[in-house]
Formats: sequence, C-alpha cells, structure tokens
Amino acid sequence: MAIDEKLEPVMAEIMRRNAGEDEFHQATREVLECLGTVIARHPHYAEDSLLERICEPERQIIFRVPWVDDSGQVQMNRGFRVQFNSALGPFKGGLRFHPSVNLGIVKFLGFEQIFKNALTGMPIGGGKGGSDFNPRGRSEGEIMRFCQSFMTELYRHIGEYTDVPAGDIGVGQREIGYMFGQYKRITNRYESGVLTGKGLRWGGSRVRTEATGYGTVYFLNQMLATKGDTLEGKKVVISGSGNVAIYAMEKIAELGGTVVACSDSNGYVVDEAGIDLDLIKEIKERRRERISSYPELRGKGAHHVTGGSIWDVPCDIALPCATQNELTGKDARELLKNGVIAVAEGANMPCTPEAVRLFQKAEILFAPGKASNAGGVATSALEMQQNASRDSWTFQQTESRLAVIMAAIHDRCAATAEEYGMPGNYVVGANIAGFIRVAEAMRALGVT
Ligand code: GLU
Repeated sequence: MAIDEKLEPVMAEIMRRNAGEDEFHQATREVLECLGTVIARHPHYAEDSLLERICEPERQIIFRVPWVDDSGQVQMNRGFRVQFNSALGPFKGGLRFHPSVNLGIVKFLGFEQIFKNALTGMPIGGGKGGSDFNPRGRSEGEIMRFCQSFMTELYRHIGEYTDVPAGDIGVGQREIGYMFGQYKRITNRYESGVLTGKGLRWGGSRVRTEATGYGTVYFLNQMLATKGDTLEGKKVVISGSGNVAIYAMEKIAELGGTVVACSDSNGYVVDEAGIDLDLIKEIKERRRERISSYPELRGKGAHHVTGGSIWDVPCDIALPCATQNELTGKDARELLKNGVIAVAEGANMPCTPEAVRLFQKAEILFAPGKASNAGGVATSALEMQQNASRDSWTFQQTESRLAVIMAAIHDRCAATAEEYGMPGNYVVGANIAGFIRVAEAMRALGVT
C-alpha cells in the first residue's frame, strides 16, 4: 500500500527528523499507509498535528552504563528508554539487551508498542528501552552488575504510575530480578508495579512467561477458525528458541500441530518427528547453550543447519519469533511455493514490508506482531492489576483472561478491517483499531 498523498508530508518530516533510523521509518510508514481511509472519513484525526505528535516520543532518555567485568576492567554501554506515548496509561514496554540496540531500534519498538498496547484494551501507554550490552558469554556476576548499573540511572525515570518496563530479547526473569532488587534498594520501596515479568515469589504473575507464545498461537487459531480450519495435523516452523518460540511450540503441540524446526542466531534444527520441547527447554533455559547441541542429545532423526534460512523448511504455518526483519521477500516466496497457509508474527516486525506484501497478495492468513504477540504485554497488565490489588491469581484464571483478551484483539482487528473495506487484512485492522484508541484519548486530553 502507498501512503495517501495527504500524509506524505508527515512521512517526509519523520524521515528528516529521524535521519538514518530505518526501522523506525519502516514502522511509522506501515501505520501511516493504513491511515489514508481513516483520515478521509474522519479528517479531525489529522488536525492539531495529531499525527506528528503520535510519531514523536514524549521523552527520550539516553544514558551511560558503566560496569566492572570479572577481570576488573571497566566496561561501558549505552542505555535507552523511549517514553513514547502515555495517553492511555503509564508508558509500558520491554527492555532489550542486545548489541544491535540503538535509538532507531528502540523507537521502532516503542512506536509499535503504543498500538499493540492500545489493542489489548488495557490502560497502558507505549514505551521501550534497552542497551547495546551483549549478555552472551557474560558471567552471572557480570549480568548482575550490569543490571544494577542500568537501574541506577533508569530508576529516576520510572514508577508504577509513570513507566513500567519489562523484558524483551536478552532480558528475562533473572535480569528483571536484579533490576527490581536495585530499584527497591535505591528507592526504599517495595513497589511491585514498577516492573513486570517478575518471579512468582516476588510479585510476578502466572502465565507471564508463557503469554507471548501462547497468545500468538491463540491468535493464529482464531484466524484459522475464520476459514473453518484448525491446527490439527499442521506442520509448523518457528524461528527463534527464546521465550516466545518455546511457549508457542508448547501451545502448538497442545492444539495438535507438529513443530518441525526452530532456530537461534547460529542456525536451525529440523526434526520431522516433532521438536522435543523438553529438550529445547533443557538446552536454552537450563544449560543456556546453543541449539546446535540438539541433534546429538536427541539421538535420532534431527539435524542442525548452519547458513541458509529456516524458511526453506516446508510447512503449513510459519511463526517468526526471533527478531525484526528476519523473514525477507525471498523467504516469503519460498514459503508460498511450499504451500504455507498462515503466518503469525511472534516477534516484533519480523517480516520485511516486501514479505508482508507477498503474503497479502497471495491471500494467505497474515497476523502482524502488534496484534498477534500482544499477549505478553497484556499479561504484564494483568500482573500490574494483581500488584495493585496485592493479589495473586491461579494459572487457570490468568490463562483464561489471556485467551479472552486475544480473542477480543482478533475480533477487533477483523471487524475494523471489514469496516474500512479491507476484510481479512489484519495489518490494516490492527493499525486502524490501535490508532483510533490512542488518537481518541489524545484528543480528549488536549494539546499535550
Ligand atoms: N517485550 C514485550 C513486547 O514486545 C513485552 C512488553 C511488556 O510486557 O511490557 O510486547
């Protein structure tokens, strides 16, 4: 889709103001492309510089993170927190620790988060943060000292009513624990609602670990149901082997599908008999190793591939759950050639714009991450609710809330796509439905 000519100056200004931030341009362009019909029907959404304001973070924080490694050397990284939009609630979104992190990446993630969070229907604004710190190969002590140093600056910018970070790539329960401990020590407050993704014994919520992966599969299942189809007997390829991928695999298996391949940044494994999930958990969660050790530990039938693309593995359903722009136009062509019927994004913006266009042209089911992976942040909002009421819900209670939220997101996207004349286009549905919620709140709150 092209950007409506009325919105072209907005895009041009974004590119001028945020020069070189390619992923941020990609994310804003995708939303603006979907808004042409909205502005034509409701011109007030383009008034008072609302579009310009929505594409500009409320606040961007960049800070130095010094820390001492195990050999006594002082190391230095850069920390970020982009507080993008708080019209619907406190800024909310994860922290990513990965060498690729820079301001443009954090801004694209923060921008996506605004609309994702709006789609959940919960009172949370959008933000994102992180650091170019590389946790790979670092000792437990180094990770802890890094997290403490990171929080020593971040603490003054966050709070349960201000900004509530969580995990993302490279930040799991262990890192959230070290950061929460440091926040508690500096502020002298046991403020559970300041971070989500906490452990169960210190304010965490059941299902938070599983939520993004489970939610993605719920969404996929809802899409299949619109075609009278199910996951039963489907062959599924899932990229990644982190938190999102692992729990997507678990839910796929539960619903009768077979996951035949998964990956990490060194390559991918293929196991036609179905990936052994317990073994993947053992390798990734306990040993913290690469999946290249999978075939040997599995003993039979599986092989590891370095180089090439996991999307060359034939499947009915593809779930990109690794990172941004991991599934290219070339990969999309290969998947379509092999008969893929549905793609749901578990990661944030894992499909390139060309790949998305190809899927849409082929009229297969395609779920954009800001809708299909919203289960993670939605469960974070449930964690905030439990913290605020000093309560702790059962697994079943929490999972059924998540299932209801994902079904509502699916239906909201489908209904909005229909309303705007593009039935079955979940990208349009998600962007318009998310945008309208945020835009309405911003208009009500005046020029801020
Ligand atoms: N990092 C996750 C996401 O991309 C979760 C954010 C959160 O729970 O705040 O949505």
